[in-house]
Amino acid sequence: MAAGMLRSDVLVVGAGPVGALLACILARAGRSVLLAERGRLRPDADANPDTRGYALSAGSVMLFEDLGYWPALMPFAAPIREIHVSREGTLGTVFMDSDSQGIRALGQVVPAARIDALLAGELARAGVRVLEETGFENLSAAKRGRRQAVVAGPDGDQRISARLIVAADGIHSAARAAAGIQVLRRRYDADALVFDVRPARAHRGRAFERFTPEGPLALLPQSDDRMNVVWVAPAEVCDRRQQLGDLDRLAELQQRFGWRLGRLQTAGGPVGRFPLEQLRARSLYAERLALVGNVAHALHPVAGQGLNLSLRDVAALAAGILRADDPGAREVLAAYAAAREADIGRVAAATDFLARGMLADGGLIRHVLGAGMWMLDRLEPLRRFFATEAMGLQPQPRHLLRELPAARKAPPRREASR
Ligand SMILES: Cc1cc2nc3c(=O)[nH]c(=O)nc-3n(C[C@H](O)[C@H](O)[C@H](O)COP(=O)(O)OP(=O)(O)OC[C@H]3O[C@@H](n4cnc5c(N)ncnc54)[C@H](O)[C@@H]3O)c2cc1C
Repeated sequence: MAAGMLRSDVLVVGAGPVGALLACILARAGRSVLLAERGRLRPDADANPDTRGYALSAGSVMLFEDLGYWPALMPFAAPIREIHVSREGTLGTVFMDSDSQGIRALGQVVPAARIDALLAGELARAGVRVLEETGFENLSAAKRGRRQAVVAGPDGDQRISARLIVAADGIHSAARAAAGIQVLRRRYDADALVFDVRPARAHRGRAFERFTPEGPLALLPQSDDRMNVVWVAPAEVCDRRQQLGDLDRLAELQQRFGWRLGRLQTAGGPVGRFPLEQLRARSLYAERLALVGNVAHALHPVAGQGLNLSLRDVAALAAGILRADDPGAREVLAAYAAAREADIGRVAAATDFLARGMLADGGLIRHVLGAGMWMLDRLEPLRRFFATEAMGLQPQPRHLLRELPAARKAPPRREASR
């Protein structure tokens, strides 16, 4: 049963961190925004099952700061002061610290659940009309400067007419498929197990990335004494590790990671599991439709870059929309795509190189790390990569943020128009 037509300037499909943040920015700048989310928003961080801690770049933190959102995240954020990169079976370690880079931190780790909770509150404050439990179903062709989407919610099907539809519905995007945008996709034949541990020794802001024959293993500091573990391995190994009791899983982790943080102890909490894929959309836009975040590009988590890259999509698309009278005009979308191609291509290629190249038996890292510490200290390109990309220090082009003054200053606004 169709429940009539809703209208807005912009329809955002998907209330993950990317869609929700974009919707907040646009609504604060006075655009009418509808947000359709297949599931429910997650205002309660403690009830959120997402176990990930996101390593945010300086640029991403700057975006949250400029929007006035950082004070709410800061109490839960852990600065990364040092990064240690090593490979199982070799002695070398690549080491970076914030002091030698002349900065306060190499990044900040914030629990995904805290970002979800922040944005759930900000969506309401910004006046975004959110349709929860409402999944995108289909699209019609653009007509007279608008495009219609059909969404299915608790009251049946609903048509929404918008000048721009933004697909932010994640890697398996139905909106991208309905627009006929093709993707290049590759499974990594690996999943990530993500959970917290409590090391006996204080982490002191240290982050560890260890390359093992099965896949990378990262330990990221948290704002308390815990560390967030991202442990990548083939699916059958993840199956077995998931079935282990906490203590047996920890013993195996300890064997892989070593003793530099003393005994690793359980921190309670669930073990999350994430299948890993690489995806790149062949185009970032179609008629009156734009792709952002995981819909446009999904990356291996080895370098902690996916959300950082996606937030740069958000800043670029928001800047273009806020400069234009018509948010879905072809020039706006083409300029957005042109502005994003190089960054996406560079980060996707570097991440894939790390994920695959470092694993291969004859891979670069083996020779590099095997050669010993003296050589690593001189290996500036690798050091720079980890300092600028691996933990997401790639600076947010400040000019993108300057395009958002309306979003920064606008008072909370009324609900989106019907
Ligand atoms: C293990 C792991 C660790 C990571 N660590 C980092 C890190 O440290 N730093 C970093 O920068 N990045 C990291 N990432 C990447 C980061 O998770 C992604 O970049 C980010 O989740 C992308 O957000 P998104 O909003 O685009 O997509 P998603 O988070 O997938 O959100 C999509 C939303 O769309 C909704 N949806 C789906 N289908 C529909 C539909 N048909 N209709 C309506 N709504 C729909 C979903 O319910 C969901 O809410 C990591 C990823 C993994 C897997």
